Amino acid sequence: MPRLKKLKIISLFLLLFSNVILANITVENTSVPGGVAVIDFESNHSNPKAFYRTVPLYVQHIKDRHWQVLVGIPLLEKLGKKSITVQGLSTQTLNFEVKKHNYTEQHITLKGKNKKYVNPNLAHMKRINQERPILSKARTVFSDKTLSNGLFSRPVDGITTSPFGLKRFYNGQARRPHTGLDYAGGIGTLIKAPADGKVILIGEYFFNGKAIFLDHGQGLISVYIHLNKHLVKQGQSVKQGEVIGKIGQSGRATGPHLHWGVYLNRTAINPNLFLDEQGL
Ligand SMILES: [Zn+2]
Repeated sequence: MPRLKKLKIISLFLLLFSNVILANITVENTSVPGGVAVIDFESNHSNPKAFYRTVPLYVQHIKDRHWQVLVGIPLLEKLGKKSITVQGLSTQTLNFEVKKHNYTEQHITLKGKNKKYVNPNLAHMKRINQERPILSKARTVFSDKTLSNGLFSRPVDGITTSPFGLKRFYNGQARRPHTGLDYAGGIGTLIKAPADGKVILIGEYFFNGKAIFLDHGQGLISVYIHLNKHLVKQGQSVKQGEVIGKIGQSGRATGPHLHWGVYLNRTAINPNLFLDEQGL
């Protein structure tokens, strides 16, 4: 085969292959608190950027001049009209509307030694305050490149014991709503990366217990908390399906389970939106 033809075939193969690697994320437009607004726009720029209140957003290329931006909507966001800014060859303002979604309530009673998690003492408060900036910094990581490959897979097989968005009360006191999805599972159950990514933080924290944070690119971060064991190291790249840790009940957990959180533009959103199987 002539060398040029061979090169052409190789480059065609690489082009096809790279398209597979950089598959877009398919998310249903769920413009409610805790959901994702999917906004299509047109731009002739080769790499347009989008922002919601100065926070960079996840942008994906659809075809030709067609692009799409994914906006994570905070659970406590006010309903109504919002706008984002797109910077390409010119600056555009795109509007979307946040609609109501009713999340259910849950009342949890903590007894004995677990009471410290309802009203932490001074020493615990000091620890919580030291850990807070470390955790929030991990949620604000924004790498320009997309690292994940299309849809997410489930991190464990267990059933969902506590859905995303639950309005929680501990011993009658209102706390922030549930920012993740809980899966049942015995201690030691293996947890698998739902998509390709990079380990950006591992550690042990007061509320979260042993935790892992994965970066999937462009502000898409997933977190795994209350673990029994980490099986990855900080800075390590992981592939979809790779084992990253084991289920436990470290931190504020009333029993062994995995709390799985997904963040987009620093905002906790319903992880189910990234799975094939279910919506909100
Ligand atoms: Zn949880």
